[in-house]
Amino acid sequence: MPKRKDQILERITSNLAQFEPSRIGSFVCPTCLKLFPITSKSEITQAHVVPRYCGGGLKTYLCKACNSHFGKYQDEWFGEYLYLARSGKGLFATKKQSRTFTINGAQVTGEFRETDDGSLEFYIYKDLMSPDAVAAMKAAETPGRRKISVPIPILEKSHLITVGFLTAGYLLWFKELGYSWVFQAHLDPVRAQILSPNERVIPSTCVLDAGDVCFDRPWIGFVELDNNCYPCAGIADRFVIFPSFSSPRTYERLAARAGKGFSVKYESIRISDYHQFPDPVGIIYRDQAMTFADHFCNNSVAPVLLLYLGDGQPPQAFLPMDSTQRKRWQHERHQDTATARIKVQRGPAFPLALQDLPLDS
Ligand SMILES: [Zn+2]
Repeated sequence: MPKRKDQILERITSNLAQFEPSRIGSFVCPTCLKLFPITSKSEITQAHVVPRYCGGGLKTYLCKACNSHFGKYQDEWFGEYLYLARSGKGLFATKKQSRTFTINGAQVTGEFRETDDGSLEFYIYKDLMSPDAVAAMKAAETPGRRKISVPIPILEKSHLITVGFLTAGYLLWFKELGYSWVFQAHLDPVRAQILSPNERVIPSTCVLDAGDVCFDRPWIGFVELDNNCYPCAGIADRFVIFPSFSSPRTYERLAARAGKGFSVKYESIRISDYHQFPDPVGIIYRDQAMTFADHFCNNSVAPVLLLYLGDGQPPQAFLPMDSTQRKRWQHERHQDTATARIKVQRGPAFPLALQDLPLDS
C-alpha cells in the first residue's frame, strides 16, 4: 500500500495536471510556485498549516525552502500569539520574555510569571547580573512604591504575526481547493508578503479582529463587509481576508476604511479533505466571484462553478461554461467596481457530499 504522503502528493499532482497536463508528475509549491518533480521527495515537505504546538493538526505540502523559511520567520511569533489567544490569558502570560526588565530605572535580569489569581510574580537572577548591575539595583531600591517596566517582545512583532495569519489562511485555502486557489494572479501580492515576512507588501488590515470570538478550529469561507464579500479564513480570534476575483483591490479598500467600525458576517465552507480536490473549480458567493483561476480566464481549462447563496445553504454546481459564456462573463468583470454577475446554466449536483466531510485530526 502506498504511503499516506505518496497518496496525497499523487492527489496534488493530478490536480496540477488538470490545469497543466504537461506537468503530470510534478508538484508546484503553493507559495513560491517553483516546480519540482514528484520524485524529488526530499524537496517536497509536509508543513503544518498552523504551528504544531498550538493545535496545528492540519497539514499540507510545501517546498523545503518555503517550509523552513516559514518555520524561521512566521511560526515563532504567530505560534506565541495563538498560544495566548487560545489560553485566554493576557500578554503577561507570554512565554517569550526578554529576561530583562527595570526596577526604578535599574536594569535587572530575571523573569515574571502570572499567577492563577492574575497577579504578577517577579524573579530576579542576581547570579546572572554583573556586580555593577546588582549595585545599581540595590541603589534604586527605595522604600515605598517600585516602578517596574517590562518589555513584552510580542508587542513589537505584530507584523510577523499578521504574516503568520496570512500564511496559514493561504495554506488552508490551498489545502481545500488546490491549484484552483493557487493559480490566481491577483494573489501574487499575498504570496510576495508571505515570502518576505519582514517587509510590508500589503496593509495589515488583511487580518481583522473577530471580536470576542475565538474559533476552535481554523476554517475557510467568506466574510461580508460593507456589501462586499471576500474569501477569508477564520483562525483563533482573527479573520484573514483575501482579495476576491471580483475585487482584486480588496486590500486597498480595507486599508481605506481602517479604524472605522464594521460588522462582519461570515460563513464557513468545506470543499475537500486530505487533499482530495474536486475538478478545477471556481467559487461564487452570492453574486460575486470569490475564486476564479487564471486558466479559466484564458480558456485553457473549463471550471465547475460552485455557487453559494449564503446563509449556510449547500452549494449549487454549474457545468463548465463554454467559451462564449466565459468571455461574456469576463467582459462583465469590473476590476475596480467589484461585482461580476454570473450567468451560467444550472448543472447537475456537485458529486461530493460537501457538508459531510470528516474533519482532519
Ligand atoms: Zn516554495
